Amino acid sequence: MTQVVQGQSIEPGRLFINNTFVEASSGRRFETISPSTGEVITDVAEGGAEDIDAAVSAARAALSGKWGSMSASRRGELLYRVAALIEERAERLSILETLDQGKPITESSKVDVPLAARIVRYFAGWADKLHGETLPVSGSYHTYTLREPVGVVGQIIPWNFPILIACWKLAPALAAGNTVVLKPAEQTPLTALELAKIFADAGFPPGVVNVVTGDGPGAGASLVRHRGVDKIAFTGSTPVGQEIMRVSADTLKRVSLELGGKSPHIIFGDADVTSAVFGVINGIFYNKGEVCAAGSRVFVQRSVHGAFMEQLVAATQKRAPGDPFNPKTRLGPQVSEAQRERILGYVASGKAQGAKLVCGGEAASVDGKGYYVQPTVFDEVDNGMTIAQEEIFGPVVSVIPFDDAEDVVRQANASIYGLAAGIWTRDIKLAHRTARAVQAGTVWVNCYNVFDPAGPFGGVKMSGFGRDLGRAALEDYTETKTVWVDLS
Ligand code: ADP
Ligand code: MG
Repeated sequence: MTQVVQGQSIEPGRLFINNTFVEASSGRRFETISPSTGEVITDVAEGGAEDIDAAVSAARAALSGKWGSMSASRRGELLYRVAALIEERAERLSILETLDQGKPITESSKVDVPLAARIVRYFAGWADKLHGETLPVSGSYHTYTLREPVGVVGQIIPWNFPILIACWKLAPALAAGNTVVLKPAEQTPLTALELAKIFADAGFPPGVVNVVTGDGPGAGASLVRHRGVDKIAFTGSTPVGQEIMRVSADTLKRVSLELGGKSPHIIFGDADVTSAVFGVINGIFYNKGEVCAAGSRVFVQRSVHGAFMEQLVAATQKRAPGDPFNPKTRLGPQVSEAQRERILGYVASGKAQGAKLVCGGEAASVDGKGYYVQPTVFDEVDNGMTIAQEEIFGPVVSVIPFDDAEDVVRQANASIYGLAAGIWTRDIKLAHRTARAVQAGTVWVNCYNVFDPAGPFGGVKMSGFGRDLGRAALEDYTETKTVWVDLS
């Protein structure tokens, strides 16, 4: 039944295979819930192994059809149209994202949706600029490389930035000529289905982009096991990434994994404290802390610790949780009740292990509803505590005071993760030295959480490997073929 929510008509979701919306072959459906009210928004088809098989067959057929012989510049044109359609439908997309995910409308309408369009446009431009090389080999040969698509790519994405990550996975894969089966997170399926319509309306041939909604063990695991899938691109938790890599060994799929983080955010004593506090607040409370690059371990040099904490607490208290549809709200509800419980469990562990809770730490609600958590600050945290080692994925920051500028790098690197890091200092040498020394895929100096289509993003250590965005993303979506021609 079509419902009208927040002024948008929302139809029950179906799978998108071969440019057609279809029910799951099992007929099963699941509900998607609004985190700000706890109410069901609509229900969505629950894809399983048979549906994944149909989608992979469609994607395989599309590789040798019209898409396979399409010129690179034409692929780019289709992607440019997708970018324009995202912009045309931005209001609806932003509302659906906030409804399904809980992120403030200010973020979805000013960041997620416009950045998704920019990313698609950026990769559209790459489509006809990817090429091989001619190689000066020994002997009488004409030797060159071709950059070919990997083939059918399975993309499994999380619930924190649904449309943004869908676009940053789809666009480079398509620019390079692959076909895709996308599996959105079960908590947030709505914008991926809306995106499916956009790809069809832009003129993509059937089978090039397929969207199969469903859960991880069902649709997700079936995609990873499938023999017809050449590569899995995954963004999500580290344990699931490990499982995907293990299962992919059976069919030797290519994998790229963008996993968890526990990113250090280092404030040196000479930093501009007010700007650093702004950066730290943005680094941990943006998207309610449901950000893999969240700056969740804040190392503050003792000389500025007092001034820093005073401003941090004042700024945190201003981030009251609110209705995500209010344009003034900067902190929405967590994505689900389960996620809220997980976060509160970490708060309890922080208290039990002796960290000093200076504000927040409780569940909250707005008009008696929603999966909110107060913005939470722990001080005097030890880097060995659970709250400093495990990814919380919520609005909880751990402040770890330090004295020695050399030792802080050792502590920052004492983590299984290596996704991102932030550094605040006015000392240019210290900034670059520290940027080199921290183990991370991205380092922000005197800023945090800055993203651009041109800037590669991904991790080292147990934050995974492979890069999204930038030219680097394209590397992971092509195979190099070497051609030798005897000239003698
Ligand atoms: P979270 O625990 O925060 O939900 P996950 O890593 O479990 O994060 O989820 C990220 C994505 O991975 C989702 O789309 C989810 O459905 C999918 N997923 C979960 N488990 C598996 C699995 N075993 N195989 C493939 N995909 C999975
Ligand atoms: Mg939902």
